[in-house]
Amino acid sequence: MHKFSLLFLLILCIGVARGQKNDTTGTESNFVSDRDAKYAVSQILLYCGLEPNFTIIVDFKIPNAQAYIYKKKRYIKYNPDFMNRINDSTYTDWAAWSVLAHEIGHHLLGHTIEKFKFSHENELAADHFSGFILHKMGATLEESVACIQKEGNLHGTKSHPSLENRKQAIIDGWKQAEHLEQSDVCVNSLKYLENNYLNEEFTHMLKFNGDLNSYYINEIHQIIWYDNYGNAILLSSLTKHSGKSYEWDFLFENSLYSVDGSGKVWLMAAHGATILVGKTEAIATEEP
Ligand SMILES: [Zn+2]
Repeated sequence: MHKFSLLFLLILCIGVARGQKNDTTGTESNFVSDRDAKYAVSQILLYCGLEPNFTIIVDFKIPNAQAYIYKKKRYIKYNPDFMNRINDSTYTDWAAWSVLAHEIGHHLLGHTIEKFKFSHENELAADHFSGFILHKMGATLEESVACIQKEGNLHGTKSHPSLENRKQAIIDGWKQAEHLEQSDVCVNSLKYLENNYLNEEFTHMLKFNGDLNSYYINEIHQIIWYDNYGNAILLSSLTKHSGKSYEWDFLFENSLYSVDGSGKVWLMAAHGATILVGKTEAIATEEP
């Protein structure tokens, strides 16, 4: 599996034969890097259960590696010199694997859909993925953080978080994979239960116009939304409307809404204006 070792040995041999290290233009290093990088990407994706359908290209002009989309195709480009140097200086070929895993993470997480968008949050998410997948592939924790340990910026940059934060994200990903491999972990024990005190006996569904999310009203008049982990999140609570025009009121994101007798949801706008913004629908309950 450790093809980068082979790559490194070959390059070293070529370098010795010529009396110097093969660097930027040698076709031999190009070929070996090309093959090894494609192999590595295919293996990383194998552990995700995916076919390798990225285009992998060599670019000696970039400092390390980069994931991007061009004309609706997903690319990963990398600098073979960087890959060799990082493997050399960390004494593990997992360093180069972690770089590629990080770039694959950017693609799989959808970060490359928005062009030239750098965010610390995205970098940490891609680091988390690299730690996760390297554990799955058999790397130790030390091997998984070898690259960042060597290349990370102590204080962070505008585009990348600090070494400590990035290392922690890799460790978290690695430990998450380790946790999932424990024999007593099954899908039912994984559910996050941070909000399990919320009542999830729903009487109505609430929809806002132009918002694809679904919200739910429980039997104690709370408005609940599920986050991407399936956690129930309390957004607001309905209170009885004091007048006759509406049945209920609720506050949401600093705006006041009212629900009328037919379930229509109205935004109480400035100067007494009301705007129809959504509706509630009763959730059918099974007949006893
Ligand atoms: Zn990145």
